[in-house]
Amino acid sequence: MSTIESITLMLALVYSTSLLYWGGKKWGALVSGALLLGATLASFFWPLLLILLGAVLVVTAIGQYQPAFANAEGRPNAVREICQHFFALSMLLVGVQYAINAGLLYAGETPWLMRPDVGDAFLPIAGGIELKAILTLGLWDQNHPAAVVMLCVVLITGVVCKRAFCGWACPLGLAGEYLYKLRKRVIHAELLPPAWVDWPLRMVKYLLLAALLYLVISMPSASIPHYLSGNYHKVADLKMAVFFMMPSMVALIGFGMIFALAAWRRQGFCRYICPYGALLGIVSFLSPFKIRRNTQHCLIETKGMSCDKCTRACPANISVHTQKNIHSDECQACMRCVSACPKKQALQFSTRNGIPLSARGLLIVLLTIMFMLPLFAYVSGYWHSQTPNDIKIELIQKLDRIGH
Ligand code: SF4
Ligand code: SF4
Repeated sequence: MSTIESITLMLALVYSTSLLYWGGKKWGALVSGALLLGATLASFFWPLLLILLGAVLVVTAIGQYQPAFANAEGRPNAVREICQHFFALSMLLVGVQYAINAGLLYAGETPWLMRPDVGDAFLPIAGGIELKAILTLGLWDQNHPAAVVMLCVVLITGVVCKRAFCGWACPLGLAGEYLYKLRKRVIHAELLPPAWVDWPLRMVKYLLLAALLYLVISMPSASIPHYLSGNYHKVADLKMAVFFMMPSMVALIGFGMIFALAAWRRQGFCRYICPYGALLGIVSFLSPFKIRRNTQHCLIETKGMSCDKCTRACPANISVHTQKNIHSDECQACMRCVSACPKKQALQFSTRNGIPLSARGLLIVLLTIMFMLPLFAYVSGYWHSQTPNDIKIELIQKLDRIGH
């Protein structure tokens, strides 16, 4: 595991363990801490233990100087923003390291900088095919194991806590937020499209997802072993790296359109284009947690007021104040509506029978799923790509000629 990956993972898991502790869940913190330490020791990789100790020191220091962030109480919006920036910084560094690694391979040199395997998260088709291989053939791919691990991570977050991955962790969502704010500085108007334009545009991401799913589903199981051992799969990550590092004119136009969309409308990329967002939107219907408005506490029903603070806070333009339960596939469990609500208990992220999940609880669940699973995968030897560097050096020279 690369240093950036290790630091991100350890900080996130130590922080989630500390949140359990500060939230009064001492036993939960003990179990989480024991799992973390046990997995670290079982990895037999001493730098990971060193990074774990460093993460404990950092989180303890934060607890001393920033207690509000350390226990994530009272300021969920600030905590969410810090988490988003932390993940964005981590992914930026991962991207730079990935690019340097690919550049060295391209130059015919054995990379002195490790390839961060988490970059395989950007290979959703490979991840889907690998998942199909595991489920139908019991075959575990060794070239890009992190792709299927990260696909499962994203799916599990969706089943448990809706699109919280989008709202709390995705760096692309954060980048879109900045583009939107920049555009609003220049053109102040909201420029929201009418419903008859918005709805078909929202379907675009589902069409993209359907196309990706078709590629996975239509591949006969019998062809999968051949595909997974083939050169195309071995260099899928390098093809992606070259696609971003040396984009074609068509790709540049595509990027420009995506940037324009993100700047035009808040969460435009998440809402209209992102196939991962579409996948999470579908899976999120399975989540027992929803934003729920309690009419016995809401100011509208109890005081006859015309409050709509929750709706105005929602970046997805969901009409929260007119519904009891928010089932929308666009809800990213960001908790902005809950933070904006002036009436305690009027709005909660909870199950149908009223079990609430606070912002802190949501963050603990999200961080645990996002990082404990990759840690276990790493300790089990199913994280790091086994494709030798000499094969990559050979294949990267003829990337254009490598097809399915
Ligand atoms: S309904 Fe609430 S949690 Fe869902 S996206 Fe809107 S503000 Fe965020
Ligand atoms: S902000 Fe709270 S009190 Fe106001 S409408 Fe929404 S749920 Fe009701």
